[in-house]
Amino acid sequence: MKKVLTIAGSDPSGGAGIQADLKTMTCHKIYGMSVITALTAQNTTGVYGVSEVPPEFVEAQLDAVFTDIYPDAVKIGMVSNKEIISVIADKLIEYKAKKIVLDPVMVATSGSKLCKDDSIEMLINKLMPLATVITPNIQEAEVLCGFEIENKEDMEKAAIKIAEKYSGYILIKGGHLVTGSDDLLYMDGDCIWYEQERINNMNSHGTGCTLSSAIACNLAEGHDVKTSILNAKNYITGALKANFSIGKGRGPLNHCW
Ligand code: PLP
Repeated sequence: MKKVLTIAGSDPSGGAGIQADLKTMTCHKIYGMSVITALTAQNTTGVYGVSEVPPEFVEAQLDAVFTDIYPDAVKIGMVSNKEIISVIADKLIEYKAKKIVLDPVMVATSGSKLCKDDSIEMLINKLMPLATVITPNIQEAEVLCGFEIENKEDMEKAAIKIAEKYSGYILIKGGHLVTGSDDLLYMDGDCIWYEQERINNMNSHGTGCTLSSAIACNLAEGHDVKTSILNAKNYITGALKANFSIGKGRGPLNHCW
């Protein structure tokens, strides 16, 4: 059985973060492991508190995992401060981690900040260079490229701009765009568009977390990046179409569709 590690924040209501990642891994028949960077107090209605794990303890968790069960792929989600980012980058280099999917989580859909402003530079300079693929949504891509994105043309320009600082695969997710929901994969001047119907399901909490872990699961199984993204997107489409509804707010996906 392949093994995937998620390094991310906890969502006690089970929709996003570590919990979404582990559910995704189990549904992919992958052995899931989790290094927790932050506890959040949240549910389907919003994020009510964040408690960051001390960086030394993130380090201790990473040592415990890597010295025992070596992951075939790693997914990185919420990494809220500079110290945590620095420890993760150092440990991933020390243990020569491969097949890293970085979801540059900055703000929850509910509007709560999940990454401190002064950490973004560190995320770009220390973590991004280690990643095989990064998966920003429109808002995160705007922060990374420095301008507003309104349509598919802007998405291509943004990818070109981000590629000035980062040489891996860039997957810009178009789901938050009013004009469409296609995703762009950019690498070395090549643009691949993943076109898809928009699924009108407001219960999409944790979609970004789920997509990045599904990509990591596919990479762990040995698929290339393009196939991994296609498979992961099909998984998300199925989970959205299953039309699960739980909780009082924006509910999570149904992983067991
Ligand atoms: N909470 C945690 C711990 C997360 O990692 C994320 C996203 O990665 C979210 C919340 C945000 O999820 P959403 O924007 O789908 O509400």
